[in-house]
Amino acid sequence: MKKLFKMFLALMMAFTMAACGAPDNSGDTGVYTAGTYTGTAKGNNGDVTVEVVLSTDKIESVTVTNHQETPGLSDGPITDIPAAIVENQSLNIDAVSGATNTSNAILEAVKSALTAAGADVEALMNAEAGDSEIIVLEDATYDVVVIGAGGAGLSAAVEANAAGASVIVIEKMPYAGGNTLLSYAELACPNNWLQEEQGIEDSVEQFAKEMWEGGGSLAKKELVDIIAANATDAAEWLRDEIGVVYQDYLVWEGGHSVARAVEPVELGPGMINPLLNYATSHGVEVALNTKAEELVVDENGVVTGVVVSRDGQTATISATNGVVLASGGFGANVEMRDHYNTRWETLDESVKTTNSPAIVGDGIKMAESIGANLIGMEHIQLYPFNNPITGVYYGIEAPSWSGEGLIYVNQNGERFVNEMGMRDERAEGILAQDGYVYAIYNQEVADRLNLEEKFASEYAQCLEDGVFYKADTLEEIAEHFDINAENLVATMADYNEGIKNNTDKFGRTTAMVTMEEGPWFILVGVVSVHHTMGGVEINENAEVLNTNGDVIEGLFAAGEVTGGIHGNNRVGTCAISDITVFGRIAGRNAAGNVK
Ligand code: ADP
Repeated sequence: MKKLFKMFLALMMAFTMAACGAPDNSGDTGVYTAGTYTGTAKGNNGDVTVEVVLSTDKIESVTVTNHQETPGLSDGPITDIPAAIVENQSLNIDAVSGATNTSNAILEAVKSALTAAGADVEALMNAEAGDSEIIVLEDATYDVVVIGAGGAGLSAAVEANAAGASVIVIEKMPYAGGNTLLSYAELACPNNWLQEEQGIEDSVEQFAKEMWEGGGSLAKKELVDIIAANATDAAEWLRDEIGVVYQDYLVWEGGHSVARAVEPVELGPGMINPLLNYATSHGVEVALNTKAEELVVDENGVVTGVVVSRDGQTATISATNGVVLASGGFGANVEMRDHYNTRWETLDESVKTTNSPAIVGDGIKMAESIGANLIGMEHIQLYPFNNPITGVYYGIEAPSWSGEGLIYVNQNGERFVNEMGMRDERAEGILAQDGYVYAIYNQEVADRLNLEEKFASEYAQCLEDGVFYKADTLEEIAEHFDINAENLVATMADYNEGIKNNTDKFGRTTAMVTMEEGPWFILVGVVSVHHTMGGVEINENAEVLNTNGDVIEGLFAAGEVTGGIHGNNRVGTCAISDITVFGRIAGRNAAGNVK
């Protein structure tokens, strides 16, 4: 296969230098006072601290030594900004797109360290432009072109490559991963190795039933059945072939009758990084910073490639065998979600999102414009309980998905919903309060999940931000947030009574854990847009269908870009099952046409 795609493909060389000049560092006395200096600046979730090592004439190294930035999203800037500063001996560095705040925080922290060192920060900021990398984007041809380097796209790429195809993944961001990277990458799979060890009885049929009914019985059942039948094989493939390392415990989200999800030790990055490494080390090319703009269709209606852009240049990447659309949903596109939403009062900018800023429906729009059928676009999931400042879920709310105790109360100190219920049920319950609610659990719960050690920095940051508090008595936590204390004490007693008698007022049947003693933990939470269930319609082969129900030849899709799989509510931990199973199918079938 002829490859003419001469562009900047190196992973992690994620951004273009605005300038590459260096201050005048000649002369006997040198320009710096040699030593090690630290600097700190505010990032998204807290302080970012760097260590800068200077010799008399050079910035020798820059290291981010401490931060609370979102895992995954911050990986690019944390490696690339320090490397660029050292390589270019300059502070005139562009932020990594999509991670501007983290990039700027690192730059500010370095400036502060250099100021402490008495360096001429101004000169470093204005360092003259040098020879920057020339990136030439040219037309090219591969067997399979994958759009999007999230979990679905990378799974597809690995399988297409394994089937003998030459493969390129087009990724518009400077890093791979999408929403998968930001997720906990928990994968629901029946009869998995941990269930077997723990003697938990499960079945493919039971999983399929719960996933389908959890989505309001609105999904295409045949697609749900494929996911249920192949999810465990997908998890074992990730573990044994790709090298994902899993925890030795199961995750149990609302909507599942048994604990059945496995979780990578390193969460989203623990799935994406091994997939990316596996793909690139087996010959898959990954073009970062490169955006798919439109699908190319020939005179017979067959999809034959993708027009891509980078830095104002465009090129056509042809696919001899197939194009796989794996560009994710549209949770971060306020206009789109507000347009399609029929269920929630509003999904305008007042509602935050847990999504990556890249997830704006590009693939859905591209496919629709060539006649693909869109299905279930009105079904948009709100994650019920998130940090009101970041809009993203809390690690410290783990009792809600770990089979442990936790209750939600409103400002009156009253419960209002089954906290272990389905996400839509919980989101509805929370929205019916004052727009925000509180989650409460006690020390015993925190200890059983080792939360204070695992999430030490998150607790500290949340305390500083005023969204978390811990105190010995229920009265104290109530007073801190101006909650009706008498009601809260009565609510907790009532909850414990219900758990003991197996008669929970809100129908809770799982996580039947009493909470009698303090200290108490309390968090403030709001709903956020989390998953868009609608998208491009596919069949069992991951082939995209047009509005007449016919296959659009040459076009496959997998992951959150597709619709009809999760009905009106995606059951927790089923997204990773979906993207891995259908990513693999799409990759194999796209390669399957190898001519
Ligand atoms: P999934 O869970 O379905 O795999 P993700 O959100 O994890 O979806 O990944 C989707 C990926 O697609 C993200 O990395 C995102 O940046 C990328 N992407 C979205 N739109 C485009 C586009 N127009 N061109 C290239 N990549 C895109």
